[in-house]
Amino acid sequence: MSSITWHYVLKFIITGDAAVGKSSLLIRLTDQRFLTNPDPTLGVEFGSKLISIPDDDKIVKLQCWDTAGTESFRSITRSYYRGAAGCLLVYDVTNRKSFANTRSWLADVREHADPHLTCILVGNKVDLCDEAQDSPPKPRQVTTEEAAEFAQQEGLLFVEASAKSGVNVEAAFVEATKDILNKIKNGV
Ligand code: GDP
Repeated sequence: MSSITWHYVLKFIITGDAAVGKSSLLIRLTDQRFLTNPDPTLGVEFGSKLISIPDDDKIVKLQCWDTAGTESFRSITRSYYRGAAGCLLVYDVTNRKSFANTRSWLADVREHADPHLTCILVGNKVDLCDEAQDSPPKPRQVTTEEAAEFAQQEGLLFVEASAKSGVNVEAAFVEATKDILNKIKNGV
């Protein structure tokens, strides 16, 4: 009989405007699926995933919490942030407003979460700007450079991803997890 064990359990939260793809990123991570029309009233609340960290020989269990639709009401509570080690701060690269709003989501995180929390800025839906897709590409409203600059100024990790194609979804969690494990090793 084999049993799966893990070295760490880390809580992640996923935050950002409604419809940027938070639930889709979580479903992609935990279920390797993409839903074109997820039922907005059935926000995914929780997903769990084991990941292994390259070069570190460590198995980490991620426990990821989604806002499950409550972001529209700004009713995210303190308990959502409590105990979180990592945060995905998500915007849609074809929606300028969702990028602008990451500032206030970040302020919220900084007000409520642990000050050592690792935050990764995720520009989602890059597939929509891809010339090679079936439908006409959507104009990109946020450049990679400006988002990278914002991330650097704010001390965030940064990646562009697509829940639809799967590109950089697990990588976003892995990058954040590596940073968290480094902080743990350094006693932060
Ligand atoms: P949430 O409100 O932030 O949790 O967003 P959802 O995950 O419910 O996604 C909102 C809409 O965007 C849905 O129609 C998804 O199918 C779509 N969506 C999410 N991620 C992507 C992506 O990476 N690419 C594309 N093309 N659509 C996406």
